[in-house]
Amino acid sequence: MFASLSPPLKPILKKPPVDKVSERFCAPDADLVIRSSDGVLLRVHRKNLSSFSEVFSSAAQASTATTSTQAPSFQNAVVDLPEDECTLDLLFQYMYRQRHPNLQGLRFQTLEKLAEAAEKYEVFAAMDPCSIHMILIAVISQLRVGRHPLEVFLYAMKHDYPDLADRAAPLLLAFSKKIQKETPTHVRLRWLLYMEAWNNILRTELPALLKCNSCPCAGWDRAQLRTYKKFNFEPRLLADLRWLSETSPAVSPCCLPRLSAIRVGLEEAVKQIPKFSAIKL
Ligand SMILES: [Zn+2]
Repeated sequence: MFASLSPPLKPILKKPPVDKVSERFCAPDADLVIRSSDGVLLRVHRKNLSSFSEVFSSAAQASTATTSTQAPSFQNAVVDLPEDECTLDLLFQYMYRQRHPNLQGLRFQTLEKLAEAAEKYEVFAAMDPCSIHMILIAVISQLRVGRHPLEVFLYAMKHDYPDLADRAAPLLLAFSKKIQKETPTHVRLRWLLYMEAWNNILRTELPALLKCNSCPCAGWDRAQLRTYKKFNFEPRLLADLRWLSETSPAVSPCCLPRLSAIRVGLEEAVKQIPKFSAIKL
């Protein structure tokens, strides 16, 4: 009689989460299903993955467990990859005869993940555009200080893009401690030598230039003191020296041409600093 009052308890069945299917990679004739780390299925063609990626090509060739730690096994019905859908969606677009994705305006973190995946799976068609966009970001960050030069530098060192490392290095003078913390020993040593070249300008070139361009006026000591104080042994201030020859209440007008000459001398010295990739241990 109580049955009508309390309905029988039903076990709560937890349905396994259903994988979503990629909107772009959903071809019915696909012969390989890749599952991204965020659980999206991408239906692709082995032929395309094999032709455009060295790593996928070896995976397809290996009939048994593959010897490469990088290469995923193609034996399973669904192959799980550690990259998220967004990264794989971009990466796979480089493996089909179609327009390649437009990387302009991509968030830096997305580009960084794509660049890593392109290197990992050796998708040559994607490696170059990624590194070029990393260069663009490194150049842009010269205008907007603080925008990813460190990530660009670490990527360049990890995957051996010396030009890119050279562009990022001068933007990292304020991050020296961070670089020493986050890079392997051989990079760290080269970084210390690179910093030494910048510091050397402040230690030796600057006093010499101040001495040989001195102004006979009474205000010169003040101008010198302001220069030293402003630099405060921070080599990053050498990257933009406009402030040095600008008019200031602390500097007598007669000293300005001297300071301009010092600025030219310092800019010359900065040009002589070897590129990061040229620093040999
Ligand atoms: Zn003067």
